[in-house]
Amino acid sequence: MFKIGFGYDVHRLIRDRPLVLGGVHIPHTLGLAGHSDADVLTHAVMDAVLGAMGRGDIGQHFPDTDPRYKGISSLSMLETVSRMMTREAFKINNLDATLVAEAPKLAGHLTDMEGHLAHTLEAPVDSVNIKATPTEGLGFCGRGEGIAAFAVVSLCGHESANERSGMA
Ligand SMILES: [Zn+2]
Repeated sequence: MFKIGFGYDVHRLIRDRPLVLGGVHIPHTLGLAGHSDADVLTHAVMDAVLGAMGRGDIGQHFPDTDPRYKGISSLSMLETVSRMMTREAFKINNLDATLVAEAPKLAGHLTDMEGHLAHTLEAPVDSVNIKATPTEGLGFCGRGEGIAAFAVVSLCGHESANERSGMA
């Protein structure tokens, strides 16, 4: 049994904030605004996993009005989603994501992001693929006003889940 999920997120780039993408702290003059650490990539991945499980979205599980999530590492939120996935007998088949950012250059950080996300999702590192693209100066990402992330995930059920669905 396979399930596909899609996630999309955007955060605004502002001064005096760290830039955290896929759990990696990236040196830059600007960082992403948000209630948590505003890790836009991890948020898109969480939405994709929640979507594949048919469990709504990140806002329902981690409301930004809740002080518990203020400044929290998004990887620890992803860990909660990962535990939910395990409880429901799903595991990552593969995850593919694209960051849209004009600056800074992200190519040198993608492998580290893949490592963090794979580790947190308890998935093989070769099942996680992260890409980054600029937009030739076009749109809000091109003007450096924000960073966007798109993620697609496919989950497979553990054998017990397959057996259950086979019996139904
Ligand atoms: Zn977000």
